[in-house]
Amino acid sequence: MKKISVVVPCYNEQEAIPYFYKEITKVSDSMKKAEFEYLFINDGSKDDTLKVLKEFSKKDSRVKYVSFSRNFGKEAAMYAGLKEASGDYIAIMDADLQDPPSLLPEMFETLESGEYDCVATRRVTRKGEPKIRSFFAKLFYKIMNAISNTEVVDGARDFRLMTKQMVNAILEISEYNRFSKGIFGFVGFQTKWIEYENIERVAGKTKWSFWKLFLYSLEGFTAFSTKPLILSTIVGILFCAIAFIMVIVIICKTFIFGDPVGGWPSLACIILFVGGIQLFCTGIIGQYLAKTYIEVKHRPIYIIKEKNTEK
Ligand code: UDP
Ligand code: MG
Repeated sequence: MKKISVVVPCYNEQEAIPYFYKEITKVSDSMKKAEFEYLFINDGSKDDTLKVLKEFSKKDSRVKYVSFSRNFGKEAAMYAGLKEASGDYIAIMDADLQDPPSLLPEMFETLESGEYDCVATRRVTRKGEPKIRSFFAKLFYKIMNAISNTEVVDGARDFRLMTKQMVNAILEISEYNRFSKGIFGFVGFQTKWIEYENIERVAGKTKWSFWKLFLYSLEGFTAFSTKPLILSTIVGILFCAIAFIMVIVIICKTFIFGDPVGGWPSLACIILFVGGIQLFCTGIIGQYLAKTYIEVKHRPIYIIKEKNTEK
């Protein structure tokens, strides 16, 4: 019999977990060919998430939990979950039922057929999400795929079922600045995509503000592309060329029409503009330098305070 580990990152999910548990047990009881382990990662929740998890684990031996010493973020929680999982197949799911457990049997059968190493999901609609957020999400995927060699699929969720082999490949990538959507693409393997419509969260609130998502998108750009660095070189060359042409134009003008002093306002604008471009480019370089700085410190991605897994 194959074992499926379901990794569930949880941050302040005390309201959603009971719903999730009810749904996931319903699905796993219906799947006779697989046994289950539910691996909840308590990502430093400030509510009673851990208490709820402990209660469930007392009643049901399939419920395992790992509890962090503080909030390390969803990326860290997923990494810890993949590391602690003991199943042959490993799934990642949100606690809020936005990733429907009812897809699991189909995903399991697909992997069992041996043709694929991974079954991933993407949402084709963004129903129930603010329009402006969808717009920026679309823009992000456009830019990301234009500047990076690693494919990042538009609307891809973190919800996926993978073989142990693929998970081991992901664990090999132990970088601190994690951008899983890119890492999944980077490791390769045969992936089948399942599409479904967006489902709204069952209880609790989303943990991602617009600002947090914006920073996360920068993480994606810097983690999977160095093209922005080339951008500063190109802008630099372009501005040198413009300056050169302007010098020639001004010299010619002086010889032909004399030299009336003027154009100070435009000069001020140009200085500001060029200054801005310089800061922008320095900022890009700074981003990469900062990421490198964090990376070379080799700090742990997460710290576990307590857990009830054997590993
Ligand atoms: N999450 C987490 N740590 C965080 C933020 C979120 O473990 O710092 C978990 C959260 O509990 C949920 C999943 O990541 O299970 C997705 O979060 P959320 O539903 O808030 O994101 P959204 O679906 O709105 O993008
Ligand atoms: Mg959600």
